[in-house]
Amino acid sequence: MSYIQDGVIIILSSPSGAGKTTLVKKISNNKHFLISISHTTRKPRSNEIDGEHYHFVSQPEFEKLTKENKFLEYAMVFNNYYGSSKDKVLEKLNKKQNVIFDIDWQGAKQIKNKKLNFKLISIYILPPSRTELFNRLLNREGADKSIAQERMKQFDKDLLHWKEYDYVIINDNLEKCYNEIMNYINLRLEGKKNLEFNKKFIEEHIKKLIN
Ligand code: ADP
Ligand code: 5GP
Repeated sequence: MSYIQDGVIIILSSPSGAGKTTLVKKISNNKHFLISISHTTRKPRSNEIDGEHYHFVSQPEFEKLTKENKFLEYAMVFNNYYGSSKDKVLEKLNKKQNVIFDIDWQGAKQIKNKKLNFKLISIYILPPSRTELFNRLLNREGADKSIAQERMKQFDKDLLHWKEYDYVIINDNLEKCYNEIMNYINLRLEGKKNLEFNKKFIEEHIKKLIN
């Protein structure tokens, strides 16, 4: 596949645990896609490295950055602040580098509303089932049931936002999902528009996911 380097914003969102961080990492292994590393007030997980997974900051530090207008977007998610650094992102985009975001629907909405002068591709990731989602969350959180349950509480509300995205996909088999996303991104980078996904199928899947 040949990837066009054109200063494109690519946003991946999903309910927590569906696999967007894994997919974003996989996409960024391709040198034409740079991750926007967010700031967050959340505490690092045991495998997370400051400056690589997130810039981990205190709440006062985060609030200072918001006052200084340092974020392209920011939001409160699961009782913590998360934000995308404006200067770093715009610098990359202006150099025609493609930037990929792992952010929630609130952040995606804010970036879309800014109507920046860059092409924007937004993708929403769904889990194959509620049970699988819970298991993925549990697995990631070191079997901490309370965190997994807390995140599941937001699931139904988060799901409602799938309609705000250009493309919606189920992350069942990781490789298959990744290939489909790359295929879609590549077609969009080549300038193809109106690339439809199977809306009826996705709607049926959403019905099964909602309790
Ligand atoms: P998110 O960023 O959407 O919250 P993560 O990427 O952190 O989700 O994935 C949650 C957990 O599920 C991680 O432990 C990850 O390794 C695992 N995971 C991601 N995609 C798949 C998949 N297709 N099949 C099985 N496990 C997956
Ligand atoms: P986690 O704590 O699991 O890493 O992320 C929780 C949620 O916050 C996920 O939906 C993730 O996409 C979102 N998130 C991460 N960084 C940002 C950001 O910079 N801005 C916004 N709005 N959401 C973010």
